[in-house]
Order: sequence, then C-alpha cells, then structure tokens
Amino acid sequence: MRHFAIVGSGPAGFYTAEALEKAYGEAARIDILDRYPVPYGLIRFGVAPDHQSLKAVSKRYDKVAESAGVDFIGNVTIGRDVSVAELLDLYDAVILATGAPHDRKLGIPGEDLPGVIGSAEFVGWYNGHPEFADLDPFVGGSHAAVVGNGNVALDCARILAKTCHEFEGSDIVGHALDALDGSAIRTITILGRRGPHQIAMTPKELGELGHLEAAVPVIDPADFPPVEADEPLEPGLRKSVTLLRGFADLADDKPKRMMFDFFAKPVRIEGEGKVERIVVERTELDEKGAARGTGETYEVPASLVITAIGYSTSPIEEVPFEGGKFVNEGGRIADRLYAVGWARRGPTGTIGTNRPDGYEVADRILAELPADDTGEREGAAGLKRLLESRGVMPTDYDDWRRIEETEVSRARPGSPREKFVRHEDWLKVLGR
Ligand code: NAP
Repeated sequence: MRHFAIVGSGPAGFYTAEALEKAYGEAARIDILDRYPVPYGLIRFGVAPDHQSLKAVSKRYDKVAESAGVDFIGNVTIGRDVSVAELLDLYDAVILATGAPHDRKLGIPGEDLPGVIGSAEFVGWYNGHPEFADLDPFVGGSHAAVVGNGNVALDCARILAKTCHEFEGSDIVGHALDALDGSAIRTITILGRRGPHQIAMTPKELGELGHLEAAVPVIDPADFPPVEADEPLEPGLRKSVTLLRGFADLADDKPKRMMFDFFAKPVRIEGEGKVERIVVERTELDEKGAARGTGETYEVPASLVITAIGYSTSPIEEVPFEGGKFVNEGGRIADRLYAVGWARRGPTGTIGTNRPDGYEVADRILAELPADDTGEREGAAGLKRLLESRGVMPTDYDDWRRIEETEVSRARPGSPREKFVRHEDWLKVLGR
C-alpha cells in the first residue's frame, strides 16, 4: 500500500487526490491535510461570495473526500504541528498544495499606512477567513482605490460597489455585509500600471460591472488605441477590451462610480496617520510592453487602498523557495516531495487549471513510485499517533459536515450558509 499526504485542501489538493486515486486505485491511501477543520481553501476563502456557481465545484471535491481511498485530516499545521521531514518519514510522497495566500507588496513608501490593505486580507475578510475576521477595512470615506488590473482587483472593486440587495444568494459573511451596507464609498478608482490591452480581466467578470444596481464603470476613451488595434488580440482579451470600450456608452447616472485609470503606476501613498491619497505616475509602454514612467504624477484620493497585484506561497522550513513559490521542476521539489497548483506554478490560471496540473504531477508520482512496489510506510496511523503525542487533535471529513450543517442551519434568508469565522467556533461546533 502506498501512502500519500497532500498538504492543502484547495482545488489543487483535491484534483491531485482525485488523480492519485485514479492512478493507484486501491493500492494507495491519500490523506488531504489542512490547518483548518474546514476544507476547500480558495473555494471557501478566495472565490467571491457572489460567484456561487464557481463555488459549486466543491461538490466534485466532496465526492473525492467521500471516496474510499481518501481522508481529510484537518486542524493540523505543517511546519508547526508536524514537519515536512516527519511527513516524508510517514508517507511515500508528500505533495504541497498550499496555494498562494500572501499578498505581494507594491514596495512603495506609505504602503504600511493604516487603510492600505492587500486583496488577500480584504477577500479573506468578506469570505470569513479567521485570520482576517478583525480586519475592519475603513469604508467610512467617499473614495477607495484598488491597485491592479486582474480579476482579483475586479472582485474587490465589485464587492465595494454592490448594494446589500445584490448580495442575496451569496455567502458573504455577516460582518462584511453589515459594514458594506453602511459604506460611504462613492468612487472606486481601479489603477492599472499599463493600458486596456494589457489587462488581465476576463470577459465574464468584466461584463458584470455593466449591470450593477448602484454603480457604473467609467473609462476614458483617450486611454484606448484605435479600435482596429484590437483585431490581433487573443479572442478573450479582445472581448474584454470591447466590453471596456462599451462602458463609455453607459449613462453615468448611478450613485457610485468605478473609475478605470490606466497608465497609472503607484509611486507613494500619503496621509496623516492613515491613508488619504495615492500618488500615481503616468506611464507609457516601452518597446517590451512594460510600464515606463513619464515623470508626470497626480493624486487619487482614497481613504481605503486595496492592492490586488498578485500573491505568493507561504514558505515552509527546509523546503526550497524562490520567487513566491517552491522551487520545483515539473512539480518535483526533491525525492518524494512535490508541489502542485499555485505553490508549484505561481498565482495564475483559473480553478480548472489546477486539474491538468494535479493530473500531471500524479502521473509523475506514479512513474517514480510504482503501484506494484509495496511501500512500508505507516501513513495516517503514524501521523495520528505523532499528533496525539503533541496534543494536537485532528478533525475529519465528518467533523466538517457537522460544521457545514450548522452553518447552513444558521443561514440568513437567501444565503446558502452563515459561515463561522473563527477557528474556536469551528471547534466549538465539534464540542471541543
Ligand atoms: P493577475 O491576474 O496576475 O493580475 C495582477 C495585476 O496586478 C496585473 O494587472 C498586474 O499588472 C498588476 N500588478 C502587478 N504588480 C504591480 C505593481 N507593482 N504595480 C501595479 N500593478 C501591478 O492576478 P490576480 O488578479 O491576483 O489573479 C490571480 C489569478 O486568479 C488569475 O489567474 C485570475 O484570472 C484568477 N482569478 C479568477 C477569477 C475568476 O475567474 N472569476 C477571480 C479571481 C481571480 P501587469 O500586467 O502590468 O503586471
């Protein structure tokens, strides 16, 4: 019997478990570990609460978790409760599927002022991530700025722009809904350091902005090249650019405005004791398509600044790490140690991108650790013994179902659940 430990229960972890189960059949036991008693990582804590159709992919992961060869082991932090070296002693292979939960920094003066937050913090706050339950982003001013031109920037800007009514059917947490309901924000400036042709926003997500109840997207047509220049663009990007151009035709008659400022690179953030404005430099594209400063600057008022410029993975002691992810070659970090998903590739691609990624690494593992070789490692039995000796009480998939049922039973009308946002509350449901 082969024993595999997958660290992280987000999409990358679950697709890899599914792939390993298919590859090894009954010859393997697969444990999916998570530091929380609740699984699904990015699906629960990252995907926007008003994108329930995307979150529905967790039903597929439920099937994996319920299958005979797979177990979920929650409430265990790798690097604190147990080391990677100890896991490698207990398991035939260890696969790091830890995602990329940390915000990249802009690296400009003023970034540490109160009121400047990263998208991981803001997204975690409205999605009920326990680390960010007390974030309390300041929504009492009239202006906010979101830095970045990717889908996460769009998520953050849209959540700031929506009315309470528009969150019906979502699983946004109560503390965020209440705060956003009382928000004074009327202008949300979305800052892109390059132009409309360089955005990383996809059409479906961009299209939503044109149909918001109380907010209208605003663009300056002067930022766009002649329309013929859109022709050679890749079809998805062309569609996004066409949508952006179309925003110019929308009536500017709603109380909130989402201003797209292109060619605007943040150079510093200013304010007396808290953020009041972000100073940006106008840019142009250089020969390689990168943003080059022109020396001309202007100020964007903002009492809340959200940076949405990408993420990085958490380093783990003794695992080689560089450029925000684990050093790996085709998913292999070292003998019997692998990485998948954002921990392998960096924070790009959709949820579905993790499926071929997980299957590829599972194929590689199968080639390196054949199914017919009998492994001699202990797997979960040894892990549980080790954890017990350290006073760590792991949770299982049934525990998660109890938490989920309780969350569903507490749901406000129209919401699929009311999430618990603190680790101790999850444990309380389990009577601990
Ligand atoms: P992203 O797509 O890589 O976008 C990052 C943005 O930040 C880019 O516009 C980038 O501009 C900008 N940026 C980076 N460094 C900057 C700096 N120093 N100053 C100013 N701007 C800077 O990352 P993301 O938005 O975090 O999304 C991560 C992945 O998740 C993406 O693949 C995304 O599509 C996916 N996602 C999908 C959905 C969905 O499907 N609904 C929702 C959320 C996220 P440059 O291009 O100039 O570098």
